Amino acid sequence: MKKTAAQDSRLVRFLLFLSDYKFHLMIYSIGIVHMTFFFLFLYLHVMPMAVFNVFSVLTYAACAFMLRSLKRLFAVFFATYLEILLHSLAAAVCVGWQYGFSLYVLALIPFCYYMCNNLVKGRRKYIVATWLGFIAFAAYAACRMIILFRPPLYGLSLPPVFSFFIYMFNASSTCIFMIVFSLIFLLEIHLSANKLSRQNELLERLANTDPLTGLYNRRSMQVFLDHAAESETDFCLAMCDIDDFKKVNDTYGHDAGDIVLKEIAEIMKHETGNQGYVCRWGGEEILILSSANSDQTREIMEKIRRSIGNHIFESREKLFHCSVTIGIAAHKNGGFVEDTINLADYNLYQGKRSGKNKVVS
Ligand code: GH3
Ligand code: MG
Ligand code: MG
Repeated sequence: MKKTAAQDSRLVRFLLFLSDYKFHLMIYSIGIVHMTFFFLFLYLHVMPMAVFNVFSVLTYAACAFMLRSLKRLFAVFFATYLEILLHSLAAAVCVGWQYGFSLYVLALIPFCYYMCNNLVKGRRKYIVATWLGFIAFAAYAACRMIILFRPPLYGLSLPPVFSFFIYMFNASSTCIFMIVFSLIFLLEIHLSANKLSRQNELLERLANTDPLTGLYNRRSMQVFLDHAAESETDFCLAMCDIDDFKKVNDTYGHDAGDIVLKEIAEIMKHETGNQGYVCRWGGEEILILSSANSDQTREIMEKIRRSIGNHIFESREKLFHCSVTIGIAAHKNGGFVEDTINLADYNLYQGKRSGKNKVVS
C-alpha cells in the first residue's frame, strides 16, 4: 500500500515531537525503569539494591527538574552516565551477571556520542565521547570480572522463567532505548541536511539575483554570457533602459521608481519566458540574453515595449505610464560578447536619440 504524504508528515511530526522532548522522555523512562527495579529488589529482599534504586529515582527526579533549563543538560547527562555505571556495578556485586543489568552500560556507548555531539564543541567531542565510551566498556568488563573472583552477595535461586523474564526486561529496555535514540539521531541528521540545503539555495539565490527586482544580477549574467559564447550557437542581446526614469523618481519619489523597476522586471521575465535570461545590468538598465533568432527576439522586445507602454503604474494613489527603449544586437559565433553588448548599447543610444520608446536592431 502506498503511503500518503499526510501519513509521512504525521510520522515526521511524531518524530519531531520525540526529538523536542527526547531528554524528558529519556529521564522519565529511566526513572520508571528504576522504580520497577526498586519493587523487584524489594520483592527479592536485595535491600542494598532497593535502597540504591530509591536514590536512583531521586537522582532522575532531580534531573527532570534540572531539564527545565537546557544549560544544565551536561550535568543531567553526566548524572545519568554515572548512575548507570554504578547501578550495573552494584547489581553485579549483589546479584551477579546473568540478569542483564550490565546491558545498560553498553547502550551508554552510542548515547555518549549522541550527547557529546550535542553538548561538546569542536573536535573535543570525539575525544570526550570516546573516553566516556571506553570507561563504559571498562565498567561492563568489570561487572563480568567481579563474578570471576567472588560470588554475588545475594545468591538468588529464582525459577528459570523468572530469571529469563528479568533478563529480557533489561535487554528489551536497552534495545528500545537504543532504537528510539538512533531514530531521533537519524531524523536530526535528515533535518540538519535539509536545513543546510535550504540555506545553500538561499545563499545561491542571494548571490545570483538582484534583491529589488529578483532578476539575475550582473555576476550570474556573466556566467550565462560565457556559456552562450562557448556553446557556439547564435544568440541575441537586448539592452533595455527605462525612459526618463530620473523624472519618475523626481516626480513620484524613489519608492515609486523602485515599484516601476520591479513591475518592469516582472513584465520582461513574463514575456521572455524560457527563451532567455533577464538580468539587472546596471541601475535601471536591463540586459536580456535571448536564445531566439533575431526576428523572434525583435518580436519579443516589441511585445515587452508595448506591454510596458500599456501598463499603468501606481504609487501613493497616483497613476502614471512609463516606457522603455531597447537596443538589440545579434551575436555571431566566434565574436566577442563585449562587442555584441557594445552594439546593443549603441542601438539603445540610437533609440534614445530618435525619440525613445523604441526597439532598435
Ligand atoms: P533616459 O531616458 O535618457 O534614460 O533618461 P533617464 O532619466 O532614465 O536617465 P538615466 O537612464 O541616466 O537614469 C538613471 C536613473 O535611474 C538615475 C537613478 O536615480 C535611477 N536609478 C538607478 N537605480 C535605481 C533604483 O534602484 N531605484 C530607483 N528608484 N532609481 C534608480
Ligand atoms: Mg540609464
Ligand atoms: Mg533611463
